[in-house]
Amino acid sequence: MVGAPERAPRVEGREPRLARHRATVVLLDNGQSVGHAMTVEFDLDRMMHRLEHLATYGSSSDGAMQRIPYSPADQEVRELFASWAADASLNVSVDAVGNISAKLVGADPDLPAVMVGSHLDTQPAGGRYDGIAGTLAALGAVEGLLAAGIRPQRTIEVVCWAAEEGSGRFDIGCIGSKAMLGALRPTDLELVCRMTGQTLRQAMESCGLDPDAIASCMRPAGSLHAVLEMHIEQGPYLEEAGIGLGVVTAISGNRRLPFAISGVQAHSGAQPMSHRRDALCAAAEIVLAAESRATATGGAVVATSGMFDHVPRTIAAVPGRADLVIDVRSSDLEALEDAARDVVEEAARIARSRGVEVERGQIWGVDPTDTDRSVSALLERTCTAMDQPYLTMVSGAGHDSAILGKRFPSGLIFVPSRDGISHSPLEFTAAEDLGLGGSALQAALVDIAS
Ligand SMILES: [Zn+2]
Repeated sequence: MVGAPERAPRVEGREPRLARHRATVVLLDNGQSVGHAMTVEFDLDRMMHRLEHLATYGSSSDGAMQRIPYSPADQEVRELFASWAADASLNVSVDAVGNISAKLVGADPDLPAVMVGSHLDTQPAGGRYDGIAGTLAALGAVEGLLAAGIRPQRTIEVVCWAAEEGSGRFDIGCIGSKAMLGALRPTDLELVCRMTGQTLRQAMESCGLDPDAIASCMRPAGSLHAVLEMHIEQGPYLEEAGIGLGVVTAISGNRRLPFAISGVQAHSGAQPMSHRRDALCAAAEIVLAAESRATATGGAVVATSGMFDHVPRTIAAVPGRADLVIDVRSSDLEALEDAARDVVEEAARIARSRGVEVERGQIWGVDPTDTDRSVSALLERTCTAMDQPYLTMVSGAGHDSAILGKRFPSGLIFVPSRDGISHSPLEFTAAEDLGLGGSALQAALVDIAS
């Protein structure tokens, strides 16, 4: 359904947001097995302290985070996280690709566990909240349960998924969660990092991991009761609505369309405009065509060309070669595939009209996913029990919990991003919103793990 307002979020609840720094959630008997009132605290001060501390690892002078996956800075914060989890008396282990698992063993350890977490790695010039907020919220939520003396029926497994931002290096993201699904292929290990020339296998080995054992990371169907993740929205809807919490109902899929354009390199002064076969101009027209195609859907599809390069890089030459990747995303599979097909056809038309060659590489991507209805209903119930309004919304970004959602019931809670900005040093989420998200995650965990 192209053009349908399916990305427009829906507001639920009417109560004003509460500012809270040390959030307390009172869980009442809701017909689940909680059964009685109890008070659980989410320690926002500790979370903020940790968040500030992690931002000192891999930060550049402009405030951007550069903790690309499997880099020394990534490894350092992952070890720090593991040490905090161990200090909290959680059972910590690391799998073959670097997923960190920290378990609070439940009263009935034979029941399928509840997994909760996010990631600590960043884009090459990322922010300090993307993934980090959700990982710290998951740990803090479980620490709060321990402090309150609550032992859930089910084991709660706090995870730091490895290499969520893998696309910043290897053209493949969510590497750790894909390994948990058995969807990381041995051939993926030979992908080459655009920045260092290392293969994924070499990058893992440099962290002391065992990529040949990727099969051992696989979590079979039925082994997890649910997967939860809190994440910053990375878009503008929550802030624009003045709402602190979002319950995600669907997660966009993507199609990555790589194009290599060959024109004719020539002198920038001597070659008349009428004689040019400029690869960069053709590439630029393809980028604009993709933008127009996405814009025409009224929000159902977005398209970006964040990977764009040309040669030679000199003022004095008409570029003879350009390479780009168009990233098309939508939560509607049909709209996604229609848009991707149209961009490919338009690229061929532009090439013909400009007399250049366009070679299209292998298209890759993931399909859109719905979050699990029962888990989303639980998250909505949690917001209502906290007297907090919330939006039901689509996630434009991909997430580890969405990867695992292909096999296990999964749910996502969003907190606002200032100006809707993420994957940028300008990324910011207010402490009170992080506290609200952490408290909601904690309350949902108590409910689902009881
Ligand atoms: Zn993320």
